[in-house]
Amino acid sequence: SAIPTIVLSDGRQIPQLGFGVYKVEPDEAQRVVEEALTVGYRSIDTATLYGNEDGVGRALANSGLRRNEVFVTTKLWNDDQGYDETLRAFDASMNRLGLDHLDLYLVHWPVPSLGRYVDSFRALQKLRDDGRVKSIGVSNFTEEAIERLIAETGEVPALNQIELHPGFTQTELRAYHMGRGIATEAWAPLGQGSVLGDPTIEAIARTHGRTPAQIVLRWHLQIGTIAIPKSVTPSRIAENFEVMGFRLGPDEIDAIDGLRFDVGRLGPDPETFGA
Ligand code: NAD
Repeated sequence: SAIPTIVLSDGRQIPQLGFGVYKVEPDEAQRVVEEALTVGYRSIDTATLYGNEDGVGRALANSGLRRNEVFVTTKLWNDDQGYDETLRAFDASMNRLGLDHLDLYLVHWPVPSLGRYVDSFRALQKLRDDGRVKSIGVSNFTEEAIERLIAETGEVPALNQIELHPGFTQTELRAYHMGRGIATEAWAPLGQGSVLGDPTIEAIARTHGRTPAQIVLRWHLQIGTIAIPKSVTPSRIAENFEVMGFRLGPDEIDAIDGLRFDVGRLGPDPETFGA
């Protein structure tokens, strides 16, 4: 059956499962995105930082899919923050992607010490008002940074893409998002592979005749997050898309919610990153 969608506060829909391309080499991006589109993914998450927007664009162009059949996200890199800088960076991304409009544009990190994320978001509002991007949001934003955005721009971002996986479940930030009508998108949804050998997850996988990655992605779908797993291996790209047709029970969800590992957060701290 089909992958569910999440309705954003602006009324647009995003597939709850997408394909991420962080650390995919530029010359490999076209192949893996073509692989993902063939398997059925209809949402692709890239970023200027990843250096592979052109490969993503070539895969989209070769796919034979209509523009409105694929949801494309890219992100503004920290070096490009600022109002005019953001408008220029967006044009450059769109040239590399070869698209006339984007589905979702995100401010990649707040970089509080830079003090430019409000100006950057104002540029996103302009791009949205001009019809060049359909939805605008943020990534790695704390509650404090989002509240400042809302106070200064009068707009609530549609989505916040944050590190989120078993062992780092972001319970408080998710509750805050819920109260504000912000969609939660999970990066490193598989904990970059580190959570897949956990005995609890393995046991649940055996119960359902599924793989640990499928169990973790199913957990994301059932807790309401949008997941964007990455792989360059065809069998895993396919495996990570096969997450429909079974359900985890409440006890299984609770067991995964309760997992704790030596390392919780795997990536940088948004309060200090980019400073
Ligand atoms: P992930 O949790 O998706 O893990 C990917 C890794 O897990 C793979 O490299 C592989 O080693 C392993 N893996 C994947 N599928 C597997 C399977 N079926 N079986 C066994 N191992 C498997 O981590 P990620 O790539 O860091 O995050 C996903 C996406 O999120 C990125 O590609 C990118 O698009 C986005 N992201 C965004 C930010 C941000 O700051 N906004 C940061 C990191 C990643």
